[in-house]
Amino acid sequence: MDFSSFDTRLENTVYKNLRIGFIWASKISLITLLLITIVIWVDFIHTKNSNLLLTTINFAIQGLLFASSWLFFVHNKTLQHYKIIAAIYALLFGITWGGTIINLNNLGHAYVIVEIIGNLLFLVILLSFYTYRIAVYLAILPILIFTTWYSIEDPRFNLLFSFTKLAITLIIIESGRQLLFKWFTTRITQEHDNKRLLSELAQLSFTDQLTQINNRRFFDFAIDKQIINAKHHNTPLSIILIDIDYFKLFNDTNGHVKGDICLKSVAVTIKNSLLRSNDTVSRYGGEEFVVLLPNTDIHGACRVAKRIQQNLAILAINHSASDISHSVTVSQGIATWQTNQRPNQLINNADSHLYNAKELGRNQYCSA
Ligand code: GH3
Ligand code: MG
Ligand code: MG
Repeated sequence: MDFSSFDTRLENTVYKNLRIGFIWASKISLITLLLITIVIWVDFIHTKNSNLLLTTINFAIQGLLFASSWLFFVHNKTLQHYKIIAAIYALLFGITWGGTIINLNNLGHAYVIVEIIGNLLFLVILLSFYTYRIAVYLAILPILIFTTWYSIEDPRFNLLFSFTKLAITLIIIESGRQLLFKWFTTRITQEHDNKRLLSELAQLSFTDQLTQINNRRFFDFAIDKQIINAKHHNTPLSIILIDIDYFKLFNDTNGHVKGDICLKSVAVTIKNSLLRSNDTVSRYGGEEFVVLLPNTDIHGACRVAKRIQQNLAILAINHSASDISHSVTVSQGIATWQTNQRPNQLINNADSHLYNAKELGRNQYCSA
C-alpha cells in the first residue's frame, strides 16, 4: 500500500489547497472587477469623470492577468516550485488590487468604498491562501498599505484611528489564518492516522501470526493478481508447494513448542532462499508453505526449490525421528501456469507433484 510520510502528505495537500484557492481568487477577482466596471460606468452618466477610460484600461489589463492565472492553475495539476509561483502570484494579486484601490480613489469615490473592497479582498485572500503564510502577507500588504494610506489622508480620521485599524486588521488576519491552518493540519493528521491504521490493518490481515510471513489470504489475492499479470505480459509464472517431512513425528518427539520454533525457522529459510523482490512465500496450511514466482519458468522454479533444500540442509534442525535424514527436510511440488488455467488448477497440479515427491521418498522436488 502506498503510504507517504506526514510531511509529504502535508506538502501535497498545501499545494492542492493553494491551487484551488488561486483558481477561486482569480474567478472572484474577475467577477468583482466586472461588477466594479459596470457600476463606475453607470455612475459616469452623472459624474462625467474623464479618468474613466484610463481606469477601464487598467481594469482590463488586471482582468487579463486574472483570466490567464485562472487558466494556468486549472491546467497545472502537479506544479514544480509551487512556493515561488505562489509567492509571485500572491504579490501580483496584492499589487494589482492595490492599484485598483488607487484608481477608485482617483475617480473620487468615498474612502468607505475603498475600505469595503479592501476588507472583502482580505476575506478572499485569507480563505484562498491560508495554507501558505508568505502568500497571505504578500497579497495583503500592498492592499493594506494603500487602504491605510487613504485612511491617513481622509480628514475625518486621525492618525491614531488609522493605526488602530491597521493593528486590528493585522491581528484578525493572523489569528484567522492560524485558526484555519490549525483546522487544516488537524484534518490532515486525522487522514494520515486513518491511512496508517488501514495500512497496518491490511498488513496484519495478510500476515501469519506464528511465522510472521504472508498467510493463505495473501496468497489467494497474490495468485489471482499474478495470473492476470502473466496473461497480460505473456510471462511465465510458477509455484512451489512445500511440505515438511514427518512433521507429526517431529512434534511427537520434541513437543509442540519446538514444533512451532521449527516452523518459524523453516519459514525464514524459505524466505531467505528467494532472491527476487517479487517472489513471495506464504504459509499455506499447518506445515505447508507455498512459493509464488512471477516471471519464472519451470527451470527457474527448480533452481529455487534446490536452493531451499540446500539452505535447509545447512540449517540442519535436528529431527532424530525422521528415517530419511537426521535433520528437518521438505518435499516440494512445482507447477508452471498454463494459459487459461485457473488458480486452483495450478495449485492442484503442484499438489500432485508434491504427492509424487512424498511417494518417491521425500526430501526432494518434483515438477513432472
Ligand atoms: P508427511 O511427511 O507425509 O508430510 O508427514 P507429516 O507428519 O509431516 O504430515 P501430517 O499431515 O501427518 O502432519 C502434519 C503435522 O503438522 C500435524 C500437526 O500436528 C503439525 N502442525 C500443523 N500446524 C502446526 C503448528 O502450527 N504448530 C505445530 N507445532 N505443529 C503443527
Ligand atoms: Mg502436510
Ligand atoms: Mg508434512
